[in-house]
Amino acid sequence: MRLLRDDSLDSGNARVGTRFWIYPQPPFIPGYEQPDRVWLSIQRDEIGDGPSDLSMYVADPLYQKQPYGFASLPPFGGARRAPIRPGPDRHFDNIDPTSRPFLAVHAYACVRFVLDIWQSYLGRRVRWFFDQTYPRLEIVPFVDWDNAQAGYGFLELGCSDIDGVIRPYALNFDTIAHEVGHLVMLSETGIPAATSADSDFFSFSEAFSDCVSLISFLHFDSAIDRLLRRTRGNLLLYNELNRFAETSPETQIRLATNFRRMSAVTREVHDRALPFVGAIFDTVVALYHRDLVAKGCADSRLLDLDLRKLAADEFDTFRQATADAFNTRPLYFKQALIAARDAVGTALAVSLKALDPSRLRIDQVARAVIAAADGATADMLEENFAWREIIGTR
Ligand SMILES: [Zn+2]
Repeated sequence: MRLLRDDSLDSGNARVGTRFWIYPQPPFIPGYEQPDRVWLSIQRDEIGDGPSDLSMYVADPLYQKQPYGFASLPPFGGARRAPIRPGPDRHFDNIDPTSRPFLAVHAYACVRFVLDIWQSYLGRRVRWFFDQTYPRLEIVPFVDWDNAQAGYGFLELGCSDIDGVIRPYALNFDTIAHEVGHLVMLSETGIPAATSADSDFFSFSEAFSDCVSLISFLHFDSAIDRLLRRTRGNLLLYNELNRFAETSPETQIRLATNFRRMSAVTREVHDRALPFVGAIFDTVVALYHRDLVAKGCADSRLLDLDLRKLAADEFDTFRQATADAFNTRPLYFKQALIAARDAVGTALAVSLKALDPSRLRIDQVARAVIAAADGATADMLEENFAWREIIGTR
């Protein structure tokens, strides 16, 4: 029995990361009641109790804490709950997902999961924009507030209270990924010195963070599988008909499958973010589709049509062909979606460094994203940004 305890037996796994549970969508969403077991890239010997590591730590207040604001900033100085410890194997998947301590572990895992993805796209570590003051990000998993926010040195999560049902944002991957999106963007572009009244900085921040949430969500195998099975591989067609989106349980998908153009939005930042998010989602789906056609899994005529103008019965013909192909070759569909996701994600991430936060305009952002993309991705991005009236047509 001694050998079973020997670390050398585990050596194949010793340096591959650390296990956690993450809910890809909050557990009250139908179909997402069970969390996924994920491997984060951080090594077990790099995570301490909390959880904590060299770039972030959880501070879980023992009593109700008010959100940070201008007058109060990290570190949290009040009484804290005991830091969460990993299991004997030093993984963190030993915590009961229905327990209160799980909030701290889940919030940490979501931040790390999203950071892993965007650091991969960037090809380097993200250096926090606040690292002159705070070397580490403070994650507060539960505050007395119906909101979530990321700011100078912190990310904190409140809870929604609907008819007495408390739902902590610490269990909401979508919300956490969005907030990490804000931190990643500011760390890459820097903080604007000043923004003019017509600056698109804040609306682009919202757009970018929603894209981070959407693209990061597509990194859960279970989420991709569910999406493809539910639509029988027909993301584009359902998107165009807007049927799939309206009934979609995933917040990110509902948000991203909008039809808004720049001429139809107000100056309100979330509203003004919609065409950009829509263009990004349309590009992911268009690339996916192009790949399917190239592999003989979808009708090639789809590439030459304006799908927004097709009649319903024409859609049905295309949909049936794709569904038949999906039945026999589901793996191709998954590969196509993953490739599309990463092509667009990389272009988004890489474009950030080229932006001037003080004089940001949404058309310049779109041009920077196109410039950061490869051939086919750049073409699709250009087409979709133009349709959204974010850039002019050439
Ligand atoms: Zn936001």
